[in-house]
Amino acid sequence: MKVVFQQLDVRTSGRKELVDLTDRIEQVVEESGLKEGMCLITTLHTTSCIIINEHEEGLMQDIVAKLRTDFPNDGKWLHNRIDDNADAHLASSFLGPSKVLPIRDGVLVRGTWQNIFLMELDGPRKRTVLVELLGN
Ligand code: ZN
Repeated sequence: MKVVFQQLDVRTSGRKELVDLTDRIEQVVEESGLKEGMCLITTLHTTSCIIINEHEEGLMQDIVAKLRTDFPNDGKWLHNRIDDNADAHLASSFLGPSKVLPIRDGVLVRGTWQNIFLMELDGPRKRTVLVELLGN
């Protein structure tokens, strides 16, 4: 079994936004030479997460709007006493930092409309996303 590790540096520009990493992740898979295996994508932060969904501008704005509704920044969160980003920590806790996708016949297996996004919850920041491949 082979292990391939790649760090992606991502610069975000808004407080809450989606950054499509699909092309960069597929490039890692392609360059790995792996034919079969698994691809882990994980963010190293407590105020961002990885999601998989359609790259459609309206939907991307809907997702951010839903975040603001479900995790309002002006909630009476205790963490805001020391750091004004409890909404971001909460959303990250429920949505999670990682996703795993299969690799088959040398390509990342995903549905036609399934793109992979870093979801920024407390930007703008410099983010680190790790891509680790296991396979043959
Ligand atoms: Zn915080």
